[in-house]
Amino acid sequence: MHANPRQTDTLFGLFIRERDRKCVFKIKCGGSSKIIRLDPCHFLSKGSSSEAVRFHPDNADAGCDLCHEWIDHTADGIIWHREFKLKQLGETKYWELVRLANSYKKRNDKQDKIDIKNLFETIN
Ligand SMILES: [Zn+2]
Repeated sequence: MHANPRQTDTLFGLFIRERDRKCVFKIKCGGSSKIIRLDPCHFLSKGSSSEAVRFHPDNADAGCDLCHEWIDHTADGIIWHREFKLKQLGETKYWELVRLANSYKKRNDKQDKIDIKNLFETIN
């Protein structure tokens, strides 16, 4: 994880965990209910790059350490993750996300915080 996460990263991570509640990938953990530790796993522009999808709800899922590690750091995992997202989002949303990831957005913590807080309202 980042040594010094932004407040907005922490808040967004909270949203992802609250929304998903368990590891959505289940590819390495088998969806074990014993998993307590979940992290937001970004799909496009991992880490510090594209601001445009950093806090996009379609761009992150809650994942356990096992799945997260495999998805982020193995060639098979990266390919699997892409197919997973394509299936999960469907063609239209998937390509919209890709387009967005390649577009420019200026960092704006104040607005991002408002947007992320609004995301919590979308959780049932
Ligand atoms: Zn898992």
